[in-house]
Amino acid sequence: MAETKSRIWTELDFEKNGKQTGYLHLPHSVTRSAYGTIAIPCAIIRNGAGPSTLLMAGNHGDEYEGQIALCRIMREIEAGDIKGRIVIVPAINLPAAMAGARVSPIDDLNLNRCFPGNPNGRPTEQIAYYIETVLAPMCDAWVDLHSGGGSLDYMPYAQVIMSRDAKINNRALAALEAFGSPVSVIQAFSDEKTMANSAAVRNKKIYFGTEAGGTGSVNVDGVRLAYEGTLRVLAYFGHLSRNNKRISVPPPPKKTRWVEIASRDYYVYAPQAGLFEPKVKLGDAVKKGQLYGLVHFVDDPMRQPTEVRFKASGLLMCKRHPGRCERGDCLGHLVSDTKR
Ligand SMILES: [Zn+2]
Repeated sequence: MAETKSRIWTELDFEKNGKQTGYLHLPHSVTRSAYGTIAIPCAIIRNGAGPSTLLMAGNHGDEYEGQIALCRIMREIEAGDIKGRIVIVPAINLPAAMAGARVSPIDDLNLNRCFPGNPNGRPTEQIAYYIETVLAPMCDAWVDLHSGGGSLDYMPYAQVIMSRDAKINNRALAALEAFGSPVSVIQAFSDEKTMANSAAVRNKKIYFGTEAGGTGSVNVDGVRLAYEGTLRVLAYFGHLSRNNKRISVPPPPKKTRWVEIASRDYYVYAPQAGLFEPKVKLGDAVKKGQLYGLVHFVDDPMRQPTEVRFKASGLLMCKRHPGRCERGDCLGHLVSDTKR
């Protein structure tokens, strides 16, 4: 039990059977509304004993595929369709989601760098604290649907981040396989303490998610992956029956391709500010030393563009979306084949 109770309150009863939709209320006193709250939509669908799963999107507000998929699942699934409990929060950082921004416009904070949160902190820190101390502890597994947002474009995939707990890693890898993404990424263990996966590690929960597109737009394949993969994993956890008449659980794709981000060298960073011209496309296989692109200086046209080369071989699964870059911006990253 957390030492300090979260200030977020809800009229929803997490223990009650049936389907409830309502809000998580984050107190937010402003000029327009002295006793106001930020009302974060939430559904609790419960039918007796069984597994408990948290479905979350909108951790970053400009990542839309998961938000769309979870709104649909929230509308479609009724209590009679399932066993156990599903908690659905399609836009957990609601102010960021409504602004179409990665960070909250209220406090300029990135929810996925705010864990374990602060019960008396800024709104985004309070949301992190609520997830860390209320939502994560009540679930066996936590599905966190991301995509590239405005600055990145992803070939849609699902991914898991390894923890120090081998048992949990094995369960997460099996769940990721059941999610059924054509490509599944295994991210090496990280000691990062402020991201959602660290909250899952502290709570000893299965945690995985997606990178389902990006560019600040909506990727058709990414929405499908987020929706169908979530239904497949709900069936895998034992919530949904594959014989369900109302909700048809899609069959898995043929086989997932297991890949990894093996080192920091898989990431490419802009060496200078300028206009980045990529020479390869998203999804291309590239070799170490190959030219990724050129940084151009349009205010100094006679200056030679700077070459940017790959430091590793692999598949380009993530690429910077805007043309202009600052020094230090991530221009993309690679993955390479691995075994589960
Ligand atoms: Zn994200």
